[in-house]
Amino acid sequence: MSDVPAPRPGPQPELSLDERLALLEGRDFWHTQPLPGQEAVSMTDGPHGVRRQEGRQTGFNFSALIPATCFPTASALAASWDTELLREVGAALGREARGQGVHVLLGPGVNLKRSPLCGRNFEYFSEDPLLAGTLAAAYIAGLQGKGVGASLKHFAANNQEYRRLSSDSVVDERALRELYLRPFEIAVKEAQPWTVMAAYNGVNGRYCSEHPRLLTKILRDEWGFGGAVISDWGAVNDRARGLRAGLDLEMPGYDGARVPELRAALAAGRITRADVERSVARLRDLAGRAGRTPRTPPVDPDAQHALARRAAAAGVVLLQNTDAALPLRPGAKVAVLGAFAEKPRYQGAGSSVIQPTRLDTPLGELRALLGEENVTYAPGYPRQGEEDAARLREEALALVRDADVVVIVAGLPENLEAEGVDRDHLDLPETHGALIRAVAAAHPRVVVALQSGAPVRLPWRGEVAGIVQAYLGGQAGGGGLADVLTGRVNPGGKLAESFPDALEDVACSAYYPGGPRTAEYRESLYVGYRYHDTAGVEVAFPFGHGLSYTAFGYGTPRLDRGRVGRGEPLTVTLPVTNTGAVAGAEVVQLYVHAPQGPLFRPEQELRAFARVVLAPGETREVTLTLDERAWAVYDVTRPGWHVPGGTYELRLGSSSRDLRARVTVEVAGDGDLRPEPEAVRAVYGRPAHPFRAPDAAFRALYGAPLPDNSPYTPAEYDLNTPLGALQGTVQGRALNALVRLGTEPRGERRYSADAVSAAGAIREMPLRQLYLGTGGRLRPRVIASVTEALAGRWGGALRALVTPDAEPPLAGEARKEG
Ligand code: BGC
Repeated sequence: MSDVPAPRPGPQPELSLDERLALLEGRDFWHTQPLPGQEAVSMTDGPHGVRRQEGRQTGFNFSALIPATCFPTASALAASWDTELLREVGAALGREARGQGVHVLLGPGVNLKRSPLCGRNFEYFSEDPLLAGTLAAAYIAGLQGKGVGASLKHFAANNQEYRRLSSDSVVDERALRELYLRPFEIAVKEAQPWTVMAAYNGVNGRYCSEHPRLLTKILRDEWGFGGAVISDWGAVNDRARGLRAGLDLEMPGYDGARVPELRAALAAGRITRADVERSVARLRDLAGRAGRTPRTPPVDPDAQHALARRAAAAGVVLLQNTDAALPLRPGAKVAVLGAFAEKPRYQGAGSSVIQPTRLDTPLGELRALLGEENVTYAPGYPRQGEEDAARLREEALALVRDADVVVIVAGLPENLEAEGVDRDHLDLPETHGALIRAVAAAHPRVVVALQSGAPVRLPWRGEVAGIVQAYLGGQAGGGGLADVLTGRVNPGGKLAESFPDALEDVACSAYYPGGPRTAEYRESLYVGYRYHDTAGVEVAFPFGHGLSYTAFGYGTPRLDRGRVGRGEPLTVTLPVTNTGAVAGAEVVQLYVHAPQGPLFRPEQELRAFARVVLAPGETREVTLTLDERAWAVYDVTRPGWHVPGGTYELRLGSSSRDLRARVTVEVAGDGDLRPEPEAVRAVYGRPAHPFRAPDAAFRALYGAPLPDNSPYTPAEYDLNTPLGALQGTVQGRALNALVRLGTEPRGERRYSADAVSAAGAIREMPLRQLYLGTGGRLRPRVIASVTEALAGRWGGALRALVTPDAEPPLAGEARKEG
């Protein structure tokens, strides 16, 4: 329920053309240009806290943050599979944002976890589109119910950090519709975010920020989006093309710097008055909504922290628990090892960083719950780097002799999970792995608690008794983890992503992150469990997995109809019983297995889920409803969703690999689908392991020649060429060497998340972004001149500097329509 006052329609002041054009870009880094008599719309990151900075911002600045509640990041929240919790967290963020005068929070991020290596996976929900979209919709509903707008990001197919501002995601239409766009579609239709953020990258030949099909045809005409589209910060290439395509607001802005460029575009007929009016109307509407967001008193930090703790506990996944090593028994002597226990990893790096109002540690919270006298501690490995690792390990080993149970807190350090940088392997730091192995050899009851925003390899998993994945639990993550380890909270988290045994088990691994110009999504629909379950690949822990301190019995499912006619929903009901001795939550998952048909399909796909909380011995009926999309495929030949008729199997279970009940149903089709080409069927019909898709197969699936992916040549250098790709001329190499020297973290800074993230961002920055990156200090003509010089076009360099008219537009070559 919204607690925001109803709209107050007011007179719309008349604006001059230039004033209208000025509205189409921000006033500064975090505000829109205010309408006369109205406040500017204030935006800030997002997504897991209100990241306000002191003073007026003219550039990315990771310091001077105003303390705010740091909630668990999206991958932790997703592991709860709890829409009600997501709504509560959204509402709490809304209250906090309102208390700080923020109108739009930049999130949630619903990009699919195509590969576990993506540096921003901690900020995203899942490898499954239904789960990601449903959770995002709940978060948005909570946030917007408090009168604070969401910015659903990053639209679309933004699944890597390598070349994140220049890369073109080459995705076949089915994968785009069935996977990558689907979470956006669900969130837009269910929750109508105030804004959608157009991503940095391109999709099938066009930048997202100038993509009419994405920004208008699909988002507005098909899904009914009624809010404003804003650019990711610095994602604009050609502003006029963007406006025409449906990009309403460029962020950040420089107080009207684009006005002359847009005026010229109008005069040249590249945009029309109608394009301008349309976006102005949407931005007026946004300002109107923001104007109805009253500022409220600051939130109670204790209440926010308590919710953050509950959310953190809900996101902890009990992966393994042999010999009932957990929960820790009262009075047991516990040795806590691992520097993360004392200095936890609790959030990711980059634009989402929050300065927390306080910080729980697992060690402190375990001591509070178990009694100081029962808990000993040793760091076991260096918090960063490798120095002293052997000594710290030995000291830790000395401690385990007298312990009944050992808890090792390990995970990924900050510098391995940052916006701007992808990982290139799935391993824990060597020092963490070595500690785990040494302690496991010395003690029979070892529990490993992992703090990371994404899956890691667990090659020692057979050597330890318990494993919990605690994700990045936010400022109360230490408390949430301690609650689960001690049994104060019975774990109910389930993996929203697969934990593979090896990188090669991820279908896109041979093609990720691609480059230099494009990222080819050759694996198509085979993301996460969709691949593992189709190709029969073993995983360490499957999608949907998560244990509890109790057990659940599944009864026989009943269907409300034996045959599903066209457009009819299907309701599945089944009794679930808590057969153990403590209360607990189960997430019932429904996967659909489609019959063999003219188009390839993954072995099974999540189509519904429900979370149920049960007292010991209690039984409840769980009801799941399936609509047409449960059966549908996106048909590229008759563009649209179509249902292949036949017998579908419904599989109900506690994880994608722990299926407890099956039932079949006849589904009426809606016409014949044209079979896919043999070249496609041969590779995608029965995907091999390891997965490879030769050019011919992917080309046939993509349905067009594959875009050029050759290295950039100097002749092509333009404003869109990323800094890191300028290697073909002496001056390009020299610039890179200089930038490396100036930005690449060395010494202690190698471990600084901010430094690593900033260096990544600079490497991936196209030359046009030098404007943004220098806070507008480097003028467009200088940037244009530098670009020409880097390409060795000295005449052009000179001309750019001496041209007498206004600053040139900072736009590179337009991409070709895909
Ligand atoms: C990120 C966005 C973020 C924006 C503003 C960009 O670099 O991709 O997620 O909202 O910066 O900080």
